[in-house]
Formats: sequence, structure tokens, C-alpha cells
Amino acid sequence: MIIRARAVVTMDGAPVRNGAVAVSKDRIVAVGTFSEVSAQYPRQEIIDLGEQVILPGLINAHCHLDYTCLRGKIRPQKSFTDWIRAINAEKSKLLPEHYVASINEGFAEAKRFGTTTVANLTAFPELIRRVPQTSFRTWWFAELIDVRSPNRANELIDSALEFLKSEENYGLAPHAPFTASDNLYHRCQKAGKGVLLTTHLAESREEMEMFRDASGPLYEFMRSIGRDMEDCGDGTPVQRFLSVVGSSSLKPFNVHSENEWLVAHLNELTERDFELLEKLKPKFHVVHSPRSHEYFNHSRFSFKRLHALGFNICLGTDSLASNQSLSLFAEMRAFQHKEPQISPEKILEMATVNPALALSQQNSLGRIRPGFRADLVAIPCAEAGDVFPEIVAFDSAISWRMINGKA
Ligand SMILES: [Zn+2]
Repeated sequence: MIIRARAVVTMDGAPVRNGAVAVSKDRIVAVGTFSEVSAQYPRQEIIDLGEQVILPGLINAHCHLDYTCLRGKIRPQKSFTDWIRAINAEKSKLLPEHYVASINEGFAEAKRFGTTTVANLTAFPELIRRVPQTSFRTWWFAELIDVRSPNRANELIDSALEFLKSEENYGLAPHAPFTASDNLYHRCQKAGKGVLLTTHLAESREEMEMFRDASGPLYEFMRSIGRDMEDCGDGTPVQRFLSVVGSSSLKPFNVHSENEWLVAHLNELTERDFELLEKLKPKFHVVHSPRSHEYFNHSRFSFKRLHALGFNICLGTDSLASNQSLSLFAEMRAFQHKEPQISPEKILEMATVNPALALSQQNSLGRIRPGFRADLVAIPCAEAGDVFPEIVAFDSAISWRMINGKA
């Protein structure tokens, strides 16, 4: 099958005008101008998308589809800890069937906005089998919290893996250093080769206050629910994280793990943190969620400094308990608003090429290249000029998509 359109954005150099993509089964087999591709693959079914641009399906590097039903339910709070209390109150009203419906609704919405792959954290891995098989490409991360039961880390991981193992792609998500024990982090790092790892880190000022100063609303809240606060008052969240996941036989800034870390947020950083992050080897991947960031009014995200240090920075929507939609186009625009000097092409990389690398799929997702998975989307393209600004400005539901070779 050949799909033709006004332009094809391959993410390998300039867009191809009057471009085409040849697809066989679930793979891309050729990309180029329509005349090149149709000469190479004659007698193929041709789908002509007309005045549209074909681009790689977008990849959401951090979301929680469990909470799609919480859209608009929690107003921005002055305190991050109050938001935690508010989401806990909302969650207490939900039953398993609500979460299943929420996840399905999330898939449908992400699809409408041109997303074809999600890194989705779920607090309920046992519900995955109740979600009907969709054509969506999903990395299921079991979100693990053991703050109320610090001796159950092994049990939590074993039970999560039992539900995850039947999935094609999965990983583990010890929630954050304030809710997950050292043992939980250590065990996740030993879960097996290829199990991806993700966590929330240095998200809020209150997390910084808790770890660095042993004070503040999050400190008081965590203490009130019985957390052992011995690890507070001795360094920032980043320093705490690196001391936990770093190998004791190596310097603390060497993360020793069979698996790579995908770290969400990283908003609150001190100069000492930057010194450590500069030395860190290997660098972890970073997910920034611009609209959730704005909702919480976090400190400015240090995109330039982190990028200059070599961090692979991706975009994610986070959950609809702190965002209005699952559109990565809207995230790209919100990011562009804060960082107008970054080119639209580089911004699109943060929703395609960069998250593909973070998921270790740099050889199969995020680009339109022979041998890659046929995950494609198309949006209208009016201008004959630069298509990248048009892509970032796109603000609607997409008209055509293909996931795994199926349109
Ligand atoms: Zn999150």
C-alpha cells in the first residue's frame, strides 16, 4: 500500500514535497517522492490524502489514563500537598469500572489528537486485562507506592509484574522519592533486563522543602501518614534520588542499573543539582509536561540548561487531574509559548524522536523510515512553505491515522 500526501515529514531532514510512504504489513518499506515510491512499488493500492502532511504518530512520554475522568474536577490549589489531598479524595469515590472506562476514554482521546504511542502509568495493573485490546501502542508502567507499607516492596513488584508480563511493552514506576522506599527503587532496578523504569522527581517546591529543609506542607503531610522522615534535611530531591539509584560501588552520580530511567518533571533544581547532573552517566531521559507545569505554577523548567547538559527531553501530558486534554499538539504549543526560540522542528522531535529513544525504540518509532513501524498520522497542510510551524499550530482532531500498518 502507498500513502501519498502533499508533504511527508520523516524527521530525517527536510519534509518531502508530493511525498509518499509505502507500507507492508506493520512496517514502512519506503519513503520519498510519490514518483520514486510508486516506481519502486508498482501495482500497489494508493491512498491519496491530498492536501495533508503525513508525520510519525506522536508519542506521549508520560500520562496517567486512570485519571481521564478527573478532568476539570480539581481546581488549581495553592499548595501541591493540597492537590494530593484533593486527588486522593476524588479517587476514593471511584470504583474499578470507573478506572477501566477512564483508561478507554483516554485512549480514544489521545488517538483523536494524533498520538499513537503512550507511556502510561497505572496504579491498577490488575485492570489492564479488563481494558479491551486496542490497536494503540502502550507502555504500561505499574505505579508503585509503599509509603504506607514499607516492607511490602517485593510483594508489590511481584504482583505488578504478574499482570504486566502478558503485555508487549511494560515497565515499573516507583512513584516518587517521597512515596516509594529505597528498597522499592532498588528492587525495581533489578526487575530484569529491558524493564523500563520511570519516576516523578523534583516536581514541586514542597518536595524540595521536604527533602532539603525537613519542613513544609508535604513534610508534615507525609509524616502524618507515618512515613519515616529520617531521609529529610539532608539534600535535595535529585540528590536523594541519585543516592538511592546510584551504585554504592561507584560515585553517587553514576546510575547503576540494567535499565534506563525516564524521569518526569525535574522542575526544582539547585546549582549543586546541576553539578551532579552534569557528571551523571548515563544521563536519564526527562519528561516535561508544559500544561500540567503551568497548572501547578511550578518553578520555570530549565529546558536550556538540561538540554545543554545532554538530557533527552520529551513531552508528556501528565494526567487530566492537572490538564485539560491529552493533546500533544497543545503541549507543543504550550512549550513553544515558554521557549519561543526553539524551532518547531525541534519541538516536534520532543513528541516523536526523543520519546522513541526514551522507550528504547529509536530504531522502530518516531520517524518515517524504511523498517520502522507504520505508525502515521495526517493533518491538513495549507501552506506551501515551512510545514513545521503549521504542525505545532494544529488545533483540532486529526483526519487520518495508521497504527501498526492499520488505517
Ligand atoms: Zn505523573
